[in-house]
Amino acid sequence: MSRHFDAIVIGTGQAGPSLAARLAAAGRSVAIIERHKFGGTCVNTGCIPTKTLIASANAAHLARRGAEFGFQVNGDVRLDMKRVKARKDEISGKSNKGVEEWLRGLKNCTVIQGHARFKSPHSVVVNDEVLEAEKIFINVGGRATIPPFPGIHDVPFFTNSSMVDVDFLPEHLVIVGGSYIGLEFGQMYRRFGSQVTIVEMGPRLIGREDEDVSEAVRKIVELEGIQIRLNAKCISLAKRDSGIAVRMECTEGSPEVVGTHVLLAVGRTPNTDDLGLDRAGVAMDEHGYIVIDDQLQTNVPGIWALGDCNGHGGFTHTAYNDYEIVADNLLNADHRRVSDRIHTYALYTDPPLGRCGMTDAELRKSGRAALAVKHPMSKVGRAIEKGETQGFIKITVDGETKQILGAAILGTGGDEVVQVLLDVMYAKAPYTVVQRAMHIHPTVAEFLPTVLSKLEPFA
Ligand SMILES: Cc1cc2nc3c(=O)[nH]c(=O)nc-3n(C[C@H](O)[C@H](O)[C@H](O)COP(=O)(O)OP(=O)(O)OC[C@H]3O[C@@H](n4cnc5c(N)ncnc54)[C@H](O)[C@@H]3O)c2cc1C
Repeated sequence: MSRHFDAIVIGTGQAGPSLAARLAAAGRSVAIIERHKFGGTCVNTGCIPTKTLIASANAAHLARRGAEFGFQVNGDVRLDMKRVKARKDEISGKSNKGVEEWLRGLKNCTVIQGHARFKSPHSVVVNDEVLEAEKIFINVGGRATIPPFPGIHDVPFFTNSSMVDVDFLPEHLVIVGGSYIGLEFGQMYRRFGSQVTIVEMGPRLIGREDEDVSEAVRKIVELEGIQIRLNAKCISLAKRDSGIAVRMECTEGSPEVVGTHVLLAVGRTPNTDDLGLDRAGVAMDEHGYIVIDDQLQTNVPGIWALGDCNGHGGFTHTAYNDYEIVADNLLNADHRRVSDRIHTYALYTDPPLGRCGMTDAELRKSGRAALAVKHPMSKVGRAIEKGETQGFIKITVDGETKQILGAAILGTGGDEVVQVLLDVMYAKAPYTVVQRAMHIHPTVAEFLPTVLSKLEPFA
């Protein structure tokens, strides 16, 4: 028994549903397959739940700062974790339901629930049924990496997927991994009221950022009472009477930290190991990411890979951009490419970090002549008014073209403000466009012209 479609989409993450809808609207018959929750990581265990939980944590944090702002809270600020989770469930659940209902309501689109495996380059098997199509789009995403730490199977641990369903307050949460996900959960749980220790294998937090960014973020979270353990080589886990020990060989401090709960946040693994890719002949790299060209085609004609599974992004906006590239190229005879996009993302600590383009380290490596400026948030009016003066604005500009090369805005509104610079980068316009623009007062963005007036040779 086999069914034929014009296109098959595997996975309903951040690229698949929009692509299915666009193809179906263009009159193609489409099958979209989902094995677990509609909407994938972002909707169910990633961006939406974490940002919803962070909003609760930040509200509690601000309430604790009442005296600074001239109000009083009677008694301690205590979180009702069941209510916090219920709020998250409602917001995340609405998105999950919305994706499913949208897909099920699409003309020309058949929704199939089950695990898809390739049978051949043009067919997949789901629930013992064979589906065939000339074009197959893989959008299977990724999952939390479970590292082979000694003792890992002897103790309970959380990943991002189980952590977003916690409805109690861990007494002492030990987070293994001091990068984006670990830091977001760490600050969140500290603000909920847990004791938090972050154990990082590398010499600094968020190792892909410039050192000054890592250092500033470290200071921000340490100031709130989060314990940081760096250079944690040889991590192992073990049971203790009082909880779970995360053992490490650190250059300083005790060789182990004992917490009541452990969260693993040490990276992501693509969901490509159970997809039967060998039967289709689709090539993967040594980390299991599907190899793609600049238009997201795999080595097998008629098969594309979009989103986290291709290793060219790791964000919701990169997965969505993958969909736009594929859809425009296929349906509008466009020539959009992955390499046309500019690297951009945010870290949702409070204050957040908004990033675009090159880091200073990348710029230094490129050897190009450049100008640079770094300005503290403590000298930005809007930040002072809000009482949120931590962080800085950092921008680099090409010495010849005057085009913006990169920016890091660690500070209030950093995730939004950085996009003023991003759009000018896409326009390939010189920084003077931002410098001469009139912005709204009082905002952080209005300060960008002043910051840009202080550019100096990049060292
Ligand atoms: C804690 C956390 C916080 C995050 N925060 C942010 C953020 O703030 N901003 C941001 O941009 N990004 C964030 N991300 C990353 C973002 O969630 C992902 O980049 C994004 O969801 C990737 O989307 P995707 O479409 O590639 O895959 P996914 O969203 O992972 O979807 C893949 C889907 O495919 C399904 N699937 C897999 N295999 C099969 C199969 N064989 N058959 C059928 N179905 C299958 C899965 O069940 C899943 O539903 C976060 C991630 C995490 C973990």
